[in-house]
Amino acid sequence: MATDAVSEEAPDAYARLVEKVKRISNVQNAGGLLGWDQQVMMPEGGTPARSQQLSTLSAISHELLVEDETGELLDELESQNLDEEQEAVVREVRREYERAVRVPTELVQQISEASSDALPAWEKAKAENDFEAFAPHLEKIVGLKREYAEQIDPDADPYAVLFADYEPYLPLEQAEEILEQVRETLVPMIAEIRESDADVTTDGFSRHAPFDEDEQEALSRDALTMLGYDWDRGRLDVSSHPFTSGTQFDARVTTRFDEDDPMGALMATIHEFGHAAYQLGLPDEHYGTPLGEPRNLSVHESQSRLWENFVGRSKAFWELFLPTFKEHFPQTGDVTVEEAFESANQVYEDNFIRVEADELTYHMHILVRFEIERALIAGDLDVADVPEVWNDKYEEYLGIRPETDSEGCLQDIHWSHGSFGYFPTYSLGSFMSAQLFAAAEEDIGGLDEQIREGEFDDLHEWLTEHVHRYGQRYETNELVKHATGEDFVADYFIDYVTEKYGELYDLDSA
Ligand code: MG
Repeated sequence: MATDAVSEEAPDAYARLVEKVKRISNVQNAGGLLGWDQQVMMPEGGTPARSQQLSTLSAISHELLVEDETGELLDELESQNLDEEQEAVVREVRREYERAVRVPTELVQQISEASSDALPAWEKAKAENDFEAFAPHLEKIVGLKREYAEQIDPDADPYAVLFADYEPYLPLEQAEEILEQVRETLVPMIAEIRESDADVTTDGFSRHAPFDEDEQEALSRDALTMLGYDWDRGRLDVSSHPFTSGTQFDARVTTRFDEDDPMGALMATIHEFGHAAYQLGLPDEHYGTPLGEPRNLSVHESQSRLWENFVGRSKAFWELFLPTFKEHFPQTGDVTVEEAFESANQVYEDNFIRVEADELTYHMHILVRFEIERALIAGDLDVADVPEVWNDKYEEYLGIRPETDSEGCLQDIHWSHGSFGYFPTYSLGSFMSAQLFAAAEEDIGGLDEQIREGEFDDLHEWLTEHVHRYGQRYETNELVKHATGEDFVADYFIDYVTEKYGELYDLDSA
């Protein structure tokens, strides 16, 4: 029978595709481990060898992906009867394959060289507050990234193509609409907070500095254990920028310590716990295939932000955790739950630096960069005008104007890497976390009480059940819809911040 013949053939081509994909994935995961080692363990002198090792692995995985056989298998599978999971695997591999074959190797090389040159130039320009010295590098990278987008899809908005490198299944218009909607809420809210007379405690912890770093590490370990981190498949280390790396079998987190600010390290640890929980929740049996990989950066960030903000910054969490905190740091004996909660949620309206921002102003930092990079890639903004536009936007959105470009448009490394379209995923993930948490609360009920009691299993299981276990089976909106009953929207985040910060700062608009 024809259908039998098809179904007998399908598994064969499919099995060969999966085998290939697993090889690619194993090469990439080996590279990931070398990257972890570079940031956590490697002596500084190891850099020259490590760079070559990483670029060799990256070239091998690229070559495996663009082999003719990949295209042939994908074509063969187009006409076959596949189940829903198999179709998802084919969709994901095809997407990766097409993007990889469309970009000429020479262009990839040019982008990589331009970034290598831009990196030290950016460091120097930032140190010397000299945007003009960095401008030619930025100009070059913008040009190359436009060419890159053009190669992948000459008919599309180039920024949409770049954005899709990080968030492949959320239409840029939808992302833009969500970001604008949040901006319309947050700009007046931040202005109102600036005027607010509310007496919010800001120094609940900082007044008791310094905080011993070893003791902070012990505190981070207690927090991870309390939240349910699987130490058999994970570990905690220190790195200059906190990150999570690994697979469903081995998801490692890092944090960093500041003797004056124990909250920074603790929240970073809880944030990374959320990333690790996602990795660890991916199905073991699909390791190495798209069904065993995280959906994308926005969804990944939704998991970290959910644990950081909806758990770690909640009053219920501080009712639970403050006694543990005080065991490690007896000098904080007089801090009340209310003070701890307020200190963890204060809004830094005069902050110029994204990585030091709070839950509200953070998104203004993202929006400024998003709007500027969108205009740069579209050719609507000259590189030379970036500093002024940057400063104007800070004035408009945050009511502050940077005095130097070092604390303005030169603050972040990402543009020298050529990462355009990456930043919005940070904010989108935060907004998504609000929608997921609301759905989890709807299904489970009484999450506040559970957090207060230190019971995190229901929440953890809900996230695994509705998000983690699917890997890349669904596109972003489908995944969110499965979990929450609707497409990804900004409304839940807006409701959440309106209520939380309205109460905290006695806002009229709340
Ligand atoms: Mg993150």
